[in-house]
Amino acid sequence: MKITIASGKGGTGKTMVATSLALTLAAVTPKQPPLLLDCDVEAPNAHLFLHPAVTEQQNVSLLIPSVDEAKCTHCGKCAEVCQYHAIAVLGQKTLVFPQLCHGCGSCTALCPEKAITELPEKMGIIERGPAVAGISFARGVLDVGEPMAVPIIRQLKRWARPAPGQVVLYDAPPGTSCPVVETVRGSDYLLLVTEPTPFGLHDLRLAVQVAGELGIPAGVIINRENGPYPALDEFCADNSLPVLLRIPFERAIAEGVAQGKTLVEIHPEYVEHFHRMFTQITRLI
Ligand code: SF4
Ligand code: SF4
Repeated sequence: MKITIASGKGGTGKTMVATSLALTLAAVTPKQPPLLLDCDVEAPNAHLFLHPAVTEQQNVSLLIPSVDEAKCTHCGKCAEVCQYHAIAVLGQKTLVFPQLCHGCGSCTALCPEKAITELPEKMGIIERGPAVAGISFARGVLDVGEPMAVPIIRQLKRWARPAPGQVVLYDAPPGTSCPVVETVRGSDYLLLVTEPTPFGLHDLRLAVQVAGELGIPAGVIINRENGPYPALDEFCADNSLPVLLRIPFERAIAEGVAQGKTLVEIHPEYVEHFHRMFTQITRLI
């Protein structure tokens, strides 16, 4: 089973939920702890809670076109085919913009003069190793200044294959853009962590749209609950979104998380809450 933990915006407690769920599953099924993938490749931080020992690492590269001006006739076919405007013909010059290139290879395949070759350009790494409580851990890390998170997430998901029957938890990047869609794709369930504020509700709406477009069932965790916020409960009820867990706004939790503790370490009774939630999810799928 594959569960993505996501949120429409950053700072809602997504990693706290993902790591606590991983520790809960490791506690209740010690013979097969889960695999957790930190797909927040621009700012991965699940390792701070799960302390993996990295045993394997790989570079992730994109194949970026390089134009041989001696062969190029400046016909413009490469620029026409590029959906990302990453290659342009300006008079007698053909220019490549590597920061925009997705490495799809279309320009190389369609160049009639065979004037394009592809050169690998490193954009980040993926790495894996065992973490606390026997959890299998893997993450991607985007190099500073690189804009393309999606290829790293895609390669991370392909590389970190689960054992048969092993639960996989994807800790998604914040937001609702392409890296989130790439993370969520193929999941059996989407766990949306939100907070009871107008901003939280706004971003939850966007995240629910993504789940709907991908056809993935979703449920909600309300974090930092501090009194009633009926608009959020009404939205969940109107959209048939089960509220699977409510975590109160509490100083002890905030301080513990800031010190690198998971919720189940701060409040061990949450193992039971997370286990109950997981059981509910297995029924909902
Ligand atoms: S398709 Fe090939 S020949 Fe035509 S402009 Fe692009 S690189 Fe040059
Ligand atoms: S490889 Fe794809 S994205 Fe990159 S320049 Fe060529 S067509 Fe555009």
